[in-house]
Amino acid sequence: MTHVLHRSLAHTYPVAASGQGVTIRDEAGRDYIDASGGAAVSCLGHGHPEVGAAMKEQIDRLSYAHTSFFTTQVAEELADHLIAHAPAGLSHAYFVSGGSEAVEAALKMARQYFVEIGQPERRHFIARRQSYHGNTLGALAVGGNEWRRAQFAPLLVETHHVSPAYAYRGLWAGETLEAYGARLADELEETIRRLGPETVIGFVAETVGGATSGAITPPPGYFERVRAVCDRYGVLLVLDEVMCGMGRTGTLHAVEQEGIVPDLMTIAKGMGGGYAPIGATLVSEKIVRAFSAGSGLFQHGHTYLGHAVACAAALTVQRIIQRDGLLANVRDMGGHLMRRLEERFGQHAHVGDIRGRGLFQAIELVQDRATKEPFDPALKLHARIKREAMARGLMVYPMGGTIDGRRGDHVLLAPPYIVTPRDVDAIVERLGDAVEAALSGRP
Ligand code: PLP
Repeated sequence: MTHVLHRSLAHTYPVAASGQGVTIRDEAGRDYIDASGGAAVSCLGHGHPEVGAAMKEQIDRLSYAHTSFFTTQVAEELADHLIAHAPAGLSHAYFVSGGSEAVEAALKMARQYFVEIGQPERRHFIARRQSYHGNTLGALAVGGNEWRRAQFAPLLVETHHVSPAYAYRGLWAGETLEAYGARLADELEETIRRLGPETVIGFVAETVGGATSGAITPPPGYFERVRAVCDRYGVLLVLDEVMCGMGRTGTLHAVEQEGIVPDLMTIAKGMGGGYAPIGATLVSEKIVRAFSAGSGLFQHGHTYLGHAVACAAALTVQRIIQRDGLLANVRDMGGHLMRRLEERFGQHAHVGDIRGRGLFQAIELVQDRATKEPFDPALKLHARIKREAMARGLMVYPMGGTIDGRRGDHVLLAPPYIVTPRDVDAIVERLGDAVEAALSGRP
């Protein structure tokens, strides 16, 4: 009997009892390799003693001071650290407690920016189908996953969705990736023009698509063109790096590999590595200047903004990633993971695509490789794979609805940045076995 309202009321969850490095142990003493970092969160692995020590030290000094009364040294240091390593032009960090809150803040900042500069008629957001930006109402509204949106649709603000950058299914025969990227940027431009450029606030996109699409990487030149389109119409570019950011793709920010700078960028997950709930919206100087010159405030706020212990956790996580050169390991182990996945699944009859960047990779399952026909959603292949993986001591992050919120299955891998080649080998071996077991268990 539980009094916790769990995610699924039909499922009995094992009790996670302890965690060390890349492994979580349950109450029964079973070990699971955390090959997904939970949901791409645990970048340093579990039980890092330095993070625990820093949090304890912060609690002993001061655990909480409301941000309408005070700032704290640790929040200031964390903001300095983040801005020192952020793309040029981003000048401030607004601290929140997770990804959805970071997205909500970004949406409100974007709207307030236009009110401050005298363009209150701007009211539309454009985002992409198959995106995930969080589960609070604003974030859900910009998100493009039909299944998540459907029952809450009457509560969601109107948002306009364009095609995702999903080359496996979106690329036309004979089309180059560059031409595909240009076509997608043209679609964005047409949408802005159709809505009336003077009414559009911003374009919201995950730099590398994550939870609902499975590590879809942007085609070369896509974001440069998107940036140019946004600039042409004075539309803000909001990049959501809650999942793909903070080192996950091999650079601290995924956008570093795209050669552009967004106006607003959300981060969370790997920012605190799971040691504390924390996220942030990174804000460009032009927006901060507009707020300063106008109302002098950002009209928003939560009780736990900039929580001192969460900031101490995030600051320590980020310093360790830097000190220990972990992004180099993300790149090396990302290469190793991709090679191993290619060896194991490259010729597999039911794996249509292997994709991703750094330690953010996915396989997409198909009924038929030639036609890319997905499995019947009623099979819930993704859920079977998750179950079979757990039975083999492996945590992965499978999801259904990859194509349109209903059809398609993928498995996302996002192991901690400390993984070794042996860990990667074990992950791929267990995943291979789990996929075979899930497929052979089909009715
Ligand atoms: N944005 C992206 C890209 C995400 O992947 C997620 C969570 O998976 C969120 C926002 C929401 O973050 P949270 O679950 O911390 O609210």
